[in-house]
Amino acid sequence: MTTVPLRLGISRCLLGDPVRYDGGHKKDPFLTEVLGPYVEWVPICPEVEAGLGTPREAMRLVRRSHQAQQVRLVTITSGVDHTRALMTTTARRLEALEDLDLSGYVFKKNSPSCGLERVRVYNEEGTPIHSGAGLFAQAFRAKFPLIPVEEEGRLCDPGIRENFIERVFCYQRYRQLLRTGVTRQGMVRFHTIHKYLLLAHSPQDYEKLGRLVAQAHRYGTRELAAKYGSLFMKALTIKATVRKHVNVLHHIVGHFKDRLRAEEKSELLSVIGDYQRGLTPLIVPLTLIKHYVQRFDVEYVRDQIYLNPHPKELMLRNHV
Ligand code: SF4
Repeated sequence: MTTVPLRLGISRCLLGDPVRYDGGHKKDPFLTEVLGPYVEWVPICPEVEAGLGTPREAMRLVRRSHQAQQVRLVTITSGVDHTRALMTTTARRLEALEDLDLSGYVFKKNSPSCGLERVRVYNEEGTPIHSGAGLFAQAFRAKFPLIPVEEEGRLCDPGIRENFIERVFCYQRYRQLLRTGVTRQGMVRFHTIHKYLLLAHSPQDYEKLGRLVAQAHRYGTRELAAKYGSLFMKALTIKATVRKHVNVLHHIVGHFKDRLRAEEKSELLSVIGDYQRGLTPLIVPLTLIKHYVQRFDVEYVRDQIYLNPHPKELMLRNHV
């Protein structure tokens, strides 16, 4: 299977390009230096692409009382409405993105164009009345509902960061499955290698997905893949808790525990116990488990994405 590059969209100012309204940028060291080597970025600044120039007058989202349903993008001091320019460019840009096969998108928080959530919306008098999403970000999500998205601010949280990167790699594999042509056998294989990863997020959704795959003959391949993809990506957004991870770790140990010596078994259970009590991160029991999986050549577990969901150099499991 050919691997396509891991291509992510990104708010251009996060890469250090001076495209913000004040001529500055918001370069993010994790994205550029740590994640950067694994990613082909597709940088987008919707405001610059809409021809608003840099520097430009700062803007905000405004809901006018006579247009209750519509949020507008308006300059703060002069009150110029740039909604039409932004939305026209956005429509064109989103269409072009279809061909790029993005596996994720990192948005700049708080921006009236790029913010994903909690972006302030004002009334005409300039009072914040509620919060919403930036216009470009909202349109992106509506067009590509399965593509994992996050804001750079939230990626400072190790759990959110690990989850986002994991979803990005999962989505890339799912797209690859679609590209190679979905077969029932391919679907079963895909579901099998994601078993423990899914169980760490949502045992209920793992069951539902299993039923879907078992009833694959009822659907056309496109319909099957669409149903699977939508539930698969939703399941992965459910938080993987320590309790669920411990459950998965014990499941995996079940594959080789009879081959361990008594002292090895007791050491392994104690390492899992330390993780459960918050004394060590997930990487510690996993490293020992991977050692045994390799030593005993446990094929079913060896192929599980759960053991290697993203490059180890990102060290994402050293902090969860
Ligand atoms: S937040 Fe979005 S619109 Fe604003 S400068 Fe960055 S990329 Fe451009």
